[in-house]
Amino acid sequence: MGVSGHVEKPGCYELELGIPLRTLVEDYCGGIRGGKKFKGAIPGGVSMGILGTDQYEAELDFDIGRKYGVLGLGTSGPTVFDEDTDMVSVARNITRFFKHESCGQCTPCREGSGWLYQIMTRIEAGDAKSKDLDIAMEIANSMGSMPGTTICGLADGNAWAARTIMEKFSEEFESRVMRTYVPVTINMGELAGA
Ligand code: SF4
Repeated sequence: MGVSGHVEKPGCYELELGIPLRTLVEDYCGGIRGGKKFKGAIPGGVSMGILGTDQYEAELDFDIGRKYGVLGLGTSGPTVFDEDTDMVSVARNITRFFKHESCGQCTPCREGSGWLYQIMTRIEAGDAKSKDLDIAMEIANSMGSMPGTTICGLADGNAWAARTIMEKFSEEFESRVMRTYVPVTINMGELAGA
C-alpha cells in the first residue's frame, strides 16, 4: 500500500488485505502528521471518492465500496487528510484535474467536468449560492458510464470524487455558500388588523 498525504511516514507498506485504515496510519505510518486528528482519506486514486471522518476504521479490502460509500479500493494507496484540510479546496483541485483530463468526446464529461470545476472554484472563493450545491450534485449524478451517459469511466471518477466529498463534508460546503435570497411578502393589511 502506498500511503501519502498528512502522515508522519508516507511510503509503501506490504500488508494484509483488510487492514483497517486507522491501524495502517497509526501503527505503520507514524500517525497523522504533527499529532493532528484524522479528517478523511481517499482509499486509492481520487476516482474512488473519499472516506469521511467517521470512517477511520474502514477495512482496506474489496468490500470497502459496499460498506463505506466509496467506489472501491482502487489502487489501495490511501491519501490521508488531517483535521486542518480544506475539503472545498480538495474538491476544487480534484475537479480541476478531471476537467483537464477529459478528452471531450462525451458531452456530460466534457461539459460536466468544466461545470463542476467552475462551481467548486466559486464555492472556494465564497461566490457560490446554496443552489450551486444542488446543481453540482445533479451534474455529478448524471455523468459517467455507470449512469450510462459516457464512453469511459473517467467521468464516473469525477462524479464519485465530487459527490462523496460534498456528501461527507456537507457542513463545510454549506458554510461556504451564500444563502439564496428568498423574498418575503408582508401583507400590511393583515398586520394592521392583527
Ligand atoms: S468519459 Fe471518457 S471518452 Fe468520454 S469525454 Fe470523458 S474521458 Fe473522453
